[in-house]
Amino acid sequence: MCGIVGYIGKEEALPILLEGIKNLEYRGYDSAGFAIVGDDKKVSSEKAVGKVAALFEKISGRSFPGKLGIIHSRWATHGGVTELNAHPHSDCAGKIWVAHNGIIENYKELKKELLGKGHKFKSETDTETIPHLIEEEIKTLSFQEAVRSALKKIRGTYGLVIVNSDEPHTLIAARNFSPLLIGLGDGEYIVASDAAAVLKYTKNVVYLDDGEMAVMTPSSHKVFDLDMNHREKETHVIDWSPELAQKGGYANFMLKEIFEGPEAVENSVRGRLIAKEGLVKLGGLSDSLPLLRDAKRILISGCGTAYYAGRVGEYMLEEYGGIPVEVDVASEFRYRKPVFREGDIFLAISQSGETADTLAALREAKEKGVPVMGIVNAIGSTIARYTDAGVYQHIGPEIGVASTKAFVSQVSILALLTILIGRQREMSLVTGRRIAEELKKIPDMIRRVLKQNDEIAELARKYQKFNNFLYLGRKYNLPVAYEGALKLKEISYIHAEGCGAGEMKHGPIAMIDENFPSVFIAPQDSVYEKMISNIEEVKARRGPVIAIATEGDEKIGEIADDVIFIPKTLEMLTPILSVIPLQLFAYHFGVLKGLDVDKPRNLAKSVTVE
Ligand code: GLU
Repeated sequence: MCGIVGYIGKEEALPILLEGIKNLEYRGYDSAGFAIVGDDKKVSSEKAVGKVAALFEKISGRSFPGKLGIIHSRWATHGGVTELNAHPHSDCAGKIWVAHNGIIENYKELKKELLGKGHKFKSETDTETIPHLIEEEIKTLSFQEAVRSALKKIRGTYGLVIVNSDEPHTLIAARNFSPLLIGLGDGEYIVASDAAAVLKYTKNVVYLDDGEMAVMTPSSHKVFDLDMNHREKETHVIDWSPELAQKGGYANFMLKEIFEGPEAVENSVRGRLIAKEGLVKLGGLSDSLPLLRDAKRILISGCGTAYYAGRVGEYMLEEYGGIPVEVDVASEFRYRKPVFREGDIFLAISQSGETADTLAALREAKEKGVPVMGIVNAIGSTIARYTDAGVYQHIGPEIGVASTKAFVSQVSILALLTILIGRQREMSLVTGRRIAEELKKIPDMIRRVLKQNDEIAELARKYQKFNNFLYLGRKYNLPVAYEGALKLKEISYIHAEGCGAGEMKHGPIAMIDENFPSVFIAPQDSVYEKMISNIEEVKARRGPVIAIATEGDEKIGEIADDVIFIPKTLEMLTPILSVIPLQLFAYHFGVLKGLDVDKPRNLAKSVTVE
């Protein structure tokens, strides 16, 4: 989510750290900060809120000597965007400094324990528990052992770089579910959350794996697991340009973010499912459980992709949560004088947390006394601050203007919410468990869909000559049809319409002929047979058909012209899989037309105007 860089070697650390973090800024830019350890064991640190440029400005003309240091640009998850919460964080003595990417899930318990032992905390972050934990352990252990012992007490995700001023020739790095690599220089090492930060200095890197820590001196590096077993690591040679590296080797952010779909779901769900008990724990809603249990209706509002995620949520919450739901595009909700009732809950969905229409709809509900909640990615954003309770997506920045990974994350969170509400009502343990177990498998299933990227590119090539598309779905996959059409419109400027497959015969079918292809989202679910009939209707009018279908469905291939398969899962979770081929199709269409898919014309990432 954020960017981290660590340096140890023969050069002055700060210029290298600053250069590195500038290249990682796309990962997060709430605040930035560094700590440098001099040979004299003195630590100098500076932090600034805002982009890295603010930090540059703050330190201009000053010198921070030292050949060991760490730097961080933050994407806040715990604690507001303030200088005090900016990384790196230190222990009480100001000796141990840590920059962290990820979330320490058990930080509350750890912090309580540490406070009890007399530790003083300066920030509201989860991260600050780490240097204090190490400070505690180092009383009886070596630096390396203390870090290892502290890591064993931590639950959660981390990419870490750690320094200790008592050991000015040691840099420690560790990883669990957050990316981290070591650039191998000549008498120097640069640790970073991704290759963009190290490529200027070296092409040789070692990727740390989950549960590994690396101990570096200027002339050596060793990698261990947390039981201190030595790990032999392969050196990879990266030939990317720094610009390509920012995109993780992908041609652009949109493709990278589509491929981040599996991690997006993992990050949105991690630590929140108690699968065995068919239960869900959402920290941001823990005070609202009685409210959710007794609610009579949920009013969901969002714009564009977030709105379609909400529409999927409507099906889930009504079918399994047992609660009536209404979903509105926020720009309409705010103007149509909605009638609120006792027992209503308003739920805003917005990746950026700044969408003006959604915010206005939220205000309308709040002013009328309705409890307001949110599903938001950007921590501390206006919507996040304005809501009474909510769930963060934890998917890191989404840079491509067309939303992709945010959709799969939002739908996953709506599935969590469905279990949370459903289990307080009539949902059985077996059903809760079933959804939870299946949700855990979704990331790997997305990975399987992504493997068909080349076939989907080929399909885009085949259909490139057409100027109109109809996207059709029913029930859970009706919002996906809308979303698929939206993606094609925004990325390739091709006219595409989403439509309920059952509605087609009431109008849109008039458009169908051999020049008007349809995309049917037709997994084997409760409306499958109906979808097959609709495909037949289109074929009878010579319309070309692409179908998104369930793996193993041989029947559909006999009537559709082209089929992309998705794995079998619960009907309510299929949208998380079926949207992926549609995202890729739109992407390849745009690329084939030579368009800038990351920044489609006339659009902006976070729409802060009406
Ligand atoms: N959880 C940490 C924080 O909020 C780290 C966030 C990040 O990855 O930037 O400070």
